[in-house]
Amino acid sequence: MILPQDATPPVDVELELDLIRRYAVPGPRYTSYPPANRFHDRLDEIDIAAAIRADNANSNRPLSLYLHLPFCESRCWYCGCTTIITRRQDWADTYLADLRRELEVLVPRLNTNRPVKQLHFGGGTPTFFPAELLAEIGEMLHTHFAFAPEAECSIEIDPRCVTADQVKVLAAMGINRASLGIQDTNTEVQRAIHREQPHALNQHAVAMLREAGINDINLDLIYGLPGQSPATIEQTLDDVLPLAPDRLSVFSYAHVPWIKPAQRIFDRRGQLPAPEEKLAMFGTIRRRLAAAGFVDIGLDHFARPDDPLAVAQANGTLQRNFQGYSTQGGASLYGFGISSISATPDAYWQNPKSLADYRKALTAGELPATKGYRLSAADKRRRRLIMGIMCDRRLDFAALEQEWDIDFAATYARELGELELLRAEGLVDWDENELRVEPAGTPLLRVIAMAFDPALASSGRAHALTV
Ligand code: SF4
Repeated sequence: MILPQDATPPVDVELELDLIRRYAVPGPRYTSYPPANRFHDRLDEIDIAAAIRADNANSNRPLSLYLHLPFCESRCWYCGCTTIITRRQDWADTYLADLRRELEVLVPRLNTNRPVKQLHFGGGTPTFFPAELLAEIGEMLHTHFAFAPEAECSIEIDPRCVTADQVKVLAAMGINRASLGIQDTNTEVQRAIHREQPHALNQHAVAMLREAGINDINLDLIYGLPGQSPATIEQTLDDVLPLAPDRLSVFSYAHVPWIKPAQRIFDRRGQLPAPEEKLAMFGTIRRRLAAAGFVDIGLDHFARPDDPLAVAQANGTLQRNFQGYSTQGGASLYGFGISSISATPDAYWQNPKSLADYRKALTAGELPATKGYRLSAADKRRRRLIMGIMCDRRLDFAALEQEWDIDFAATYARELGELELLRAEGLVDWDENELRVEPAGTPLLRVIAMAFDPALASSGRAHALTV
């Protein structure tokens, strides 16, 4: 095992900010290739049944499960997730019955002799579900699937609504990692985003989780929100770093009011920070987290040097999935609940975002997929290249040439040509053996990866949707 301490290059934040100013363009986050905004609804073409059959045949391929638990008691105005706002606890009971039915529809079609190596509960607010319902979900999953002893089982926690009973149940079902949504600890910012969350709640939630044995703690922050400045970001980091997180996700706020109408209030109030101010916040985060010893995993993710994510990056085994970076490569993902995405080597498919459509399919005894994508051989190669850049920051030309029987430089001449400008700026470099993302290129990983995405020829990049 290689630990990455010595490999962490010093961060030249001023240089990075200058390069971001000049070269950052909106683009996919490449949690998948092709990204989810290119999924379509021609389900016959996707042929999910055949994709599952082909996946079943690979008995060495472990499983990764995702459950989307969509309910929240109130709406945070910045939120981009698929949520249902309600205080009706009985909705959780009904949704549990939906999940049970979905498992009953999918499991008979699935080779469940393969171990589950990863489980993630996302939302919404998974802790909207009371302890007894969480216990039922755990029991349901353990009835249908065999979990590997080393499985990474994680959940998103809202520190405003989590109880000791819930935490006890989660630990008992094998949850070993928790991601706490904090965003910002400043009360003015919290008021502006409609999410009031005294820091004492964060401290209490972390203490409860650790006491129950859930020791791997991620903290989620956002920058670019109304009322934020480099000074408030400093304060938030002063508050959260003493919680000793293993990982930090510091997301850039994505303002998409045409998709998420609740965000319009920020425009009406004229509260959003100017781009230069947002960039200064990013600089503050980079500086502070580097000084605190965190490794930059890429795209908003930071981890302690001994965290499995940082170790996987150093070992070249880091992966990307729909939750961001992951250590569990080579697993087939099966998603449950509204909006969840499944991914096998050959195809992606996504459940409906509407509860009514989701239920209608389940009542008919069908898989509730509503759109997706079948990967061609060419797509799979593109996926390999893009994920190589996003995760390993490197492409091994010799290995790819041998495997694909190609001359890399000739086959991808257009792509390499597109990167010449970034090469001249020191963001990326290559020789006859390999392509490497240089340290200065880390904040622009997706811009580098976009050169290998044929749907984003350079002229069209400015119009690419952020996903
Ligand atoms: S940010 Fe989290 S808690 Fe807030 S509305 Fe979105 S999913 Fe719910």
